Amino acid sequence: MTKKPDPKQTRIIVCDDLAPIALEVFRSRGFDPEIRTGMSEDELAEAVIGADALVVRSATKITRRIFEASDRLKVVGRAGVGVDNVDCEAATELGVVVMNTPTGNSTTTAELAISLLCSLARHIPRANAIVRSGSWKKKDLVGTELTGKTLGVVGMGRIGRIVADRGIGLRMNVVAYDPYLQGENTSIAGVDLMPLDDLLKCSDFISLHVPLTDATRNLLSWDKLALMKKGARLINASRGGVVDEEAVLDALEEGRLAGAAFDVLADEPPGKDHPLVVRDDVIVTPHLGASSTEAQLTVAVDVATQISDFLLDGVAMNAVNAPAMQPEVLHELAPFLLLVEKLGRFLAQRIGGPIRKAEITIGGDIARHDVKHLKLAFLVGVLRESLVEGDVNFVNAPGLAQERGLRVLVSEEENPIYRLGQIKIRASMRAGGPSHLVMGTVFGRELRFVRIDGVHLDLPPSGSILLTRHRDEPGVVGTLGTLLGMAGINIQRIELDPPGGEAGDLSSGFLSLDDEPNAEVLAKIAALDMIEEVQVIRL
Ligand code: NAD
Repeated sequence: MTKKPDPKQTRIIVCDDLAPIALEVFRSRGFDPEIRTGMSEDELAEAVIGADALVVRSATKITRRIFEASDRLKVVGRAGVGVDNVDCEAATELGVVVMNTPTGNSTTTAELAISLLCSLARHIPRANAIVRSGSWKKKDLVGTELTGKTLGVVGMGRIGRIVADRGIGLRMNVVAYDPYLQGENTSIAGVDLMPLDDLLKCSDFISLHVPLTDATRNLLSWDKLALMKKGARLINASRGGVVDEEAVLDALEEGRLAGAAFDVLADEPPGKDHPLVVRDDVIVTPHLGASSTEAQLTVAVDVATQISDFLLDGVAMNAVNAPAMQPEVLHELAPFLLLVEKLGRFLAQRIGGPIRKAEITIGGDIARHDVKHLKLAFLVGVLRESLVEGDVNFVNAPGLAQERGLRVLVSEEENPIYRLGQIKIRASMRAGGPSHLVMGTVFGRELRFVRIDGVHLDLPPSGSILLTRHRDEPGVVGTLGTLLGMAGINIQRIELDPPGGEAGDLSSGFLSLDDEPNAEVLAKIAALDMIEEVQVIRL
């Protein structure tokens, strides 16, 4: 049996302000955590030498430089969900586990959505303001009862499900839309899953609980808002950007919407003259969703418990980057894990809807390892495109995939082209339906996509990739280059279908870009005569 590490010889640095209860948890497990908040990157690069664990919230950035400076770092724990402040790729490459605490604030956020719903129904913020102004008039404050009304929940993840459950408690009829779930998997009895358009037509209150992704950006657009029941009310406590705010303003102006409440806006903080902020029929709160004493305590206890369990017993709960495995194996597999995750991300974006079937073919030396890790990395990549990124980890990915009806078959490639390892994945939204294929390999530790559908290429999978289907005629590259150049976007690399088809045939292009084109530039490209399809994939 391996000897447990001595907690007194183990250095844990707490880099951001954390509820003091986290320190008590560490001490109860025998550790003596150092509190060093507010360090600069230079200071942290020095402090990390000899440290086993770092604890952060969102202020401290754990960059590649910090990982490279470390000599015995094993784990970075984030109290909270988002891990944008931690370079997870660098962590995986260097065998450091990054963990978060994804469940700590779901209840608190769901309760805020319900509070906003009640406030909208009974004009509570406005009523309070009227009383403060010295008036006691209720003529303009006639509210609406919730009992028997229909609540439409968009996004039935962790928060959406709690909101649905509380809606049932309020005796509302609850309906929901979540294209990634299958019928019986809403796991709340009494909730009808239905298409978005149907939900919009029948709901009196609509509460949004989706992540911000390409598919959900402006999910409630002008067209969708036009479907809503007259007099409906909208609540957004998810992410700014999932509703078209201008369209909401129009709908309020025209009386189609009776009110709206936002805990999140596309641009935060908004100015005090923001057209939504100044309206009487709109409630805006300053991204308060996760701000409760209980949520702060829960994430602090969770992070300290998880780090202690990992350091003492090797149990990696909520690891967002790497599955538990021997460090030497992880070192060899790490670039392939990243590669497969990116293949998954690519396919999820390219397919643009719920993937239900995927076939992974693994060839070369890498196939002698336990391929379940590679399968897991694929699931993580796919699921992170439709769930809040930090919520998906190597532990919960299989359960989430099962809930979403995603089936993955793994087989071995008999005659691989790339001896070290190659991974080919074909995926589709349904068995026998249209599919896409992508294949990748690793040169040294550099990742490459070497085939996308029928096109053989050599594409580093990072940043923004502009994908086109265009007529094979002279001038395509020049025209794209000019449009992107005018928008100040540099093209790093271009890969095209090899020439040989008939002029006028459709062909594919893949352009690695330094920056992402905005909607206006994309619309200009899409409007070109020669262009059949254009899509930006982010990797
Ligand atoms: P989650 O990942 O558990 O659930 C998201 C759900 O949305 C999933 O079930 C997914 O299938 C579904 N979904 C994805 N794309 C969809 C689409 N196009 N249409 C409909 N459903 C879709 O996430 P969660 O923890 O429940 O968080 C929900 C949202 O709340 C996220 O945007 C998160 O960032 C946000 N959030 C806000 C606050 C706040 O302070 N206001 C706090 C925590 C979380």
